[in-house]
Amino acid sequence: MSDAINLIKQVKQFLETEKCFGVTEIPFFEKTTPLEGISNTDKAAAITALLNEFKDCRLCGLCETRTKLVFGQGCPNAELMFIGEAPGFDEDQQGKPFVGAAGQLLTKIIEAMKLRREDVYIANCLKCRPPGNRNPLPSEIATCKPILARQIEIIQPKVICTLGKFAAHAMLNTEEPITRLRGRFFERNGIKIMPTFHPAYLLRNPSDKKLVWQDMQQIMKELRLGVSC
Ligand code: URA
Repeated sequence: MSDAINLIKQVKQFLETEKCFGVTEIPFFEKTTPLEGISNTDKAAAITALLNEFKDCRLCGLCETRTKLVFGQGCPNAELMFIGEAPGFDEDQQGKPFVGAAGQLLTKIIEAMKLRREDVYIANCLKCRPPGNRNPLPSEIATCKPILARQIEIIQPKVICTLGKFAAHAMLNTEEPITRLRGRFFERNGIKIMPTFHPAYLLRNPSDKKLVWQDMQQIMKELRLGVSC
């Protein structure tokens, strides 16, 4: 078993012990160290190495029911990262994030920002599909979080856009409703985090697309997208 898997097991044990002592929240970024001055080539190599560490992950029960692990996709040097909840049916089949109906809407949103999917990095809180697309369990999010933290540590995006309540809650360590969180930037370790609605929610509530577009415009302004010098 690799050192990384042992480390994750130790982190899990640590969290369980903390819980026994009444600790209910651990700040998401607390134990990560930014990788100073890492080059774009090194970022690509580090992302590939991380994928290789976890491609056969068996840290939680979801490994029993997944078809393919969905690690993440996009530019390892992206300034903008999207974080969703968990793979659905199509993602589980293809091993790629956001490729189903919600993913097609996310692609449209990215393109409306004058970007391509290849310009951003897309990942999820969970790397494996919960059976029947049920909600992620808190224990599954806690187990998978160190992998996401390492993706963020390597990519070092300027902005993270969380999609839906699970990603916002995981990244911001809060239980505040997404309706109150969306539309404003939060900062964690020098990274601006913009929570917005999940594209699957938008498919059911298309009238809220305009709110998401307002959130994307704030991100575009922050990244100076579409602004000529
Ligand atoms: N919903 C998500 O949160 N992530 C995906 O990858 C697909 C649908």
